[in-house]
Amino acid sequence: MDDLDRAQILEERTRELAISKVKSLIETEREHTQSLMEKGVTLLCKCCDEPLDGFISHYCDADCRDLAHEIRESERRNGLN
Ligand SMILES: [Zn+2]
Repeated sequence: MDDLDRAQILEERTRELAISKVKSLIETEREHTQSLMEKGVTLLCKCCDEPLDGFISHYCDADCRDLAHEIRESERRNGLN
């Protein structure tokens, strides 16, 4: 085995490691979501209270996110917060 072979093997191993690490991160996130769903936890949009399918965002869409942000901003301007 020469240096080139060794370099190739090392590169392959490194790539495999990186891929398996990403896979395990995705798996952990998926299991977390799964366990929340099994507990019957339903997240609601923080703006319109619509049930959310996933756990990625706190809002059902970008409009709600922007609206909630505006409401927060105006509350702050009015000294309510
Ligand atoms: Zn919403």
